Amino acid sequence: MISISRLYYGAETGGDSIRYGRPSHGDQQLMHAIPKSAKERRPVTVWNITRTCNLRCIHCYTDSEAKWYPNELTHDIFDFLEREKIDRACFYHLVYSGRGRQMMADDLTHEESRQAMDIILERTDDFHRRGIKKDILTVDNHVDGVYLYLKLREKDPERAEEVRQLLLKGRCSACQWLNACGGALRVRADLVYKDPWAPDPACYLSDEEIGLTEEKKKELAARGEEFQQKNQEK
Ligand code: SF4
Repeated sequence: MISISRLYYGAETGGDSIRYGRPSHGDQQLMHAIPKSAKERRPVTVWNITRTCNLRCIHCYTDSEAKWYPNELTHDIFDFLEREKIDRACFYHLVYSGRGRQMMADDLTHEESRQAMDIILERTDDFHRRGIKKDILTVDNHVDGVYLYLKLREKDPERAEEVRQLLLKGRCSACQWLNACGGALRVRADLVYKDPWAPDPACYLSDEEIGLTEEKKKELAARGEEFQQKNQEK
């Protein structure tokens, strides 16, 4: 999950408390907004913005007939969010797996994905410029984070540098398997270290196995990126 609103203009939103039970960076001003129990949390409403779907999974409630329906929402979704005062939106990339494999042909081209990201970034920025608080996220393609960084570098190099520094830290950043593993699960890092970019505490590979030499450890220490591993706490 990539928080466009947080990375693009540094906003910390109420969505963080819903996702993690507290603001990710421990912002005290937001602590009062955190529901103390599941009972106090407001229901999450899911809006389906399209009926077009060829998923016919037994557990699924959609009644699509796998065809294009007229009058569906386009990227006017952002006007809809503003008009209806919806404070959070999450855009999912198509994930084809299992019986949904046939959807591969319906996926966007790479160029269309880039155009979609451009619209999301532009409209998120527009909300921010006009002082409208929205929590805008994308899910299921972490390339979005890199794309966001590259776009930000053209527009605001200083902010881009801040985002770059938000990238993975500690042993994950120095790991020789990072390309294969991708840093495992960020939520675990956030819950244990209160930092979504810290190393995944559930990584059971040894320093030797991940290629973490004494020299690299010193570099991490010099950058203030020493995180005590879970198994070292016992
Ligand atoms: S979780 Fe482990 S294997 Fe994955 S990038 Fe981090 S250190 Fe490497």
